[in-house]
Amino acid sequence: MQLSLPFAFPRHASSSSSRPTPATTRTSTAVWGLALWLTSVGNLPLWQRIDALGGSPAQRLSLILGMGALLTGAIAVLLSLLAWPRVFRPVASALLLVAAFNTHFMWQYGVVIDPTMLANVLHTDAREVRDLLSWALPVTVLLVAGLPLWLLWRRPLALRSAWPQAGRNAVHALAAFALLVLAAMLSYQGLASLMRNHKDLRYMANPLNTVYAGVRLAVDQLPRQVRPLQPVGDDAALGASYARPARPPLLVLVIGETARAQNFGLNGYARNTTPALARWQAQGDLVNFSDVGACGTNTQVSLPCIFSPLSRTQGGNKPAEHENLLDVLQRAGLAVLWVDNQSGCKGVCDRVPHAFASDRAVPGLCQGSECLDGAMLDGLDGRIAALDPQRRARGVVVVLHQMGSHGPAYAHRAPADRKPFLPECTSVTLSDCPHEQLVNAYDNSIAYTDHFLDQTLQWLQARAERGGEDTGLIYVSDHGESLGENGLYLHGVPYAIAPVQQTQVPMVAWFSPGLQQRSGLSMHCLREHAADPLSHDHIFHSVLGLMDVQTRAHQLALDAFTPCSAASQARAPAVRGAPAHSG
Ligand SMILES: [Zn+2]
Repeated sequence: MQLSLPFAFPRHASSSSSRPTPATTRTSTAVWGLALWLTSVGNLPLWQRIDALGGSPAQRLSLILGMGALLTGAIAVLLSLLAWPRVFRPVASALLLVAAFNTHFMWQYGVVIDPTMLANVLHTDAREVRDLLSWALPVTVLLVAGLPLWLLWRRPLALRSAWPQAGRNAVHALAAFALLVLAAMLSYQGLASLMRNHKDLRYMANPLNTVYAGVRLAVDQLPRQVRPLQPVGDDAALGASYARPARPPLLVLVIGETARAQNFGLNGYARNTTPALARWQAQGDLVNFSDVGACGTNTQVSLPCIFSPLSRTQGGNKPAEHENLLDVLQRAGLAVLWVDNQSGCKGVCDRVPHAFASDRAVPGLCQGSECLDGAMLDGLDGRIAALDPQRRARGVVVVLHQMGSHGPAYAHRAPADRKPFLPECTSVTLSDCPHEQLVNAYDNSIAYTDHFLDQTLQWLQARAERGGEDTGLIYVSDHGESLGENGLYLHGVPYAIAPVQQTQVPMVAWFSPGLQQRSGLSMHCLREHAADPLSHDHIFHSVLGLMDVQTRAHQLALDAFTPCSAASQARAPAVRGAPAHSG
């Protein structure tokens, strides 16, 4: 008995041999069947998104049909070129699984798949994966990929020897290409304006989005592996403030995670998520910068960019080809230490001493490999004491890389006794939670960051008062987060189309009186400039200026503290931002 499922035509009609051939699936059936399945079932989020964009039912239908024909053609071209023995079925299976996983994450979090999102996925760690798992994932994968996988593997493909198969593949690919061109021509007007107005749609087309991202990443990676980093600040030296007999500076740079500006109490958020920082601000030595743009919308881009000598538009958002801030500080003779409470430093700390918070299983703060951010302060004195004593005597820069508000498991980011906003969402399926509970869980993570920064500031103040060092702290988050605005969750939307929730980040700076004196910075002046637009571009140069590291790499125009340094105060007592005088 023959089953006549679409994938399962037995190959007998074309066989001239009389010996019985095993039941096989024709290449054309497999290619077109899979292309149609991937286009329709494998792209449900895309069709839903286009349907939700509005317009008349006829307009929406014609857009979906045009886009569908385009996608079917493109996927069939790809599959036709891959129709080789031992290649087709594994690759086709991978594409099915990719489409299924993408569908899950698009549905759950409204994410789209672009090269940086894929890079993120490839650099993620077990903890992050665990946070993202839910029962909905296997169900979606089964529904999207189960049936075609079974049909694909139940009998072999009817493939020929090399040359005839090459000819057949070429014919299929040409036919598919013709469909693609025809679809593009017929629906050009509608599709062109759709793609112009909704750039995210191009990253929603499964599985081509992932194929494209993978090729881009591979091309990006290849030449760089053999190219050493270009040196930066090879002239770096400590400035005049180190020549005087003075206390060494100790700067802590806290790199926040997924904290967005609008939920930061200091920025005027309706909820007081930052009560401790507000107290420090009231004492006068802490400044909140209220208009700070991130370099990227994910850690993979933003973290290296914060430390890059290049601005975002110069390529600071690309994989690093240059040394970074930490290399320059170390070259100038300072001691540098990176303490990580997340998935690593993305290459930034490779050439300086570094440690993981979870290296010490701090009771009450660490569970397995996962720690609350407070664990980074545990034993920090000892970690600093273990640095090179000569460097340490000159000055120290410590980076604390937070877990911050890393989602979707926001509820894990604060201990039970530090949750001012309840009830909170405890599910990783964010769209399942009432919106207020989701915001509660997120705000609790911000409130815990406030507490962590408070602890860090107290520790720094204690070190300053013990007479050891002139201490300071700069906190800036790597990127923001979407909490369901416009159906978006998490972060990682391509920068050009990212909402402000993902690109505006909180930033504060605190300087002990000793460091203010040493660096000549006026807190009064900084407060006056606190609303000036800044970005991650400014961090590299501002830290070099603050630490008085002299190098050609230091650009005054990108040093956020320049207008408030003793030198420029003396030079130009007028307020920055006043129109420049000509002549
Ligand atoms: Zn991040």
